[in-house]
Amino acid sequence: MRRNIVAGNWKMNRTFEEADDLLFAIADPLQKLDLGNTEVILCPPVLYAEMFTDVALENNFSVGAQNCSNHESGAYTGEISAAMLKSMDIEYCIVGHSERRKYFNENSEMLAGKVNQLLDNEISPLFCCGEVLEEREAGKHFEVVGQQLFEGLFHLSADELDNVIIAYEPVWAIGTGKTATPAQAQEMHAFIRSLIAKKYDQEIADDTTILYGGSCNAKNAKELFALKDVDGGLIGGASLQADDFLKIVQSF
Ligand code: PEP
Repeated sequence: MRRNIVAGNWKMNRTFEEADDLLFAIADPLQKLDLGNTEVILCPPVLYAEMFTDVALENNFSVGAQNCSNHESGAYTGEISAAMLKSMDIEYCIVGHSERRKYFNENSEMLAGKVNQLLDNEISPLFCCGEVLEEREAGKHFEVVGQQLFEGLFHLSADELDNVIIAYEPVWAIGTGKTATPAQAQEMHAFIRSLIAKKYDQEIADDTTILYGGSCNAKNAKELFALKDVDGGLIGGASLQADDFLKIVQSF
């Protein structure tokens, strides 16, 4: 179902006490906001899941994880399964973030496995796609993003895809302060929607939530979120500053 979403990806930041402070600096003011049909998702380090889901219960946000295993269970030391996330009331999980693709060598087959595990456990994948700078400069960005979607997501049925959120995150814009221009963001989001329409149908494409991520902040969020095919943002750095994050949440 298409809706406006702002998701904060805290990555590997904040100790327990720091996370507690930041959580309440966001959750308390958030509770007083009329968010309309905007959904807020916080994706802290999963170790803190219980604290977040407890607070989320009484507040208007949901909790997401940043990663999960592509395996169901078993001898995979250090991994966390989708079923474990579900048992902690986690509703969303980021899959295929460029940092995981790059530093942990996650390939499309693994990502498709993670998506399947999550859907089997009724958790919505927040599936990231995006090109690196050299690919954009070589004019290959549509091809790259298309391939990521085909390999990671397009094995799903239409009903399954309905539970997936897509985030277009040009890798050159992540954590660099270099945001995609509104024209670049809109062009890619429209392209992603057109691929979904071709593979599934127009109604499903129109119903898919597609977020933008990459140096989205309190200053540029309004312009990005106003774009026809942009349904909100996946926010990294700015989600660690309560004031900035709260401004982004109110940028629709
Ligand atoms: C991200 O890591 O998903 C992200 C968008 O980071 P930043 O907002 O810091 O560019």
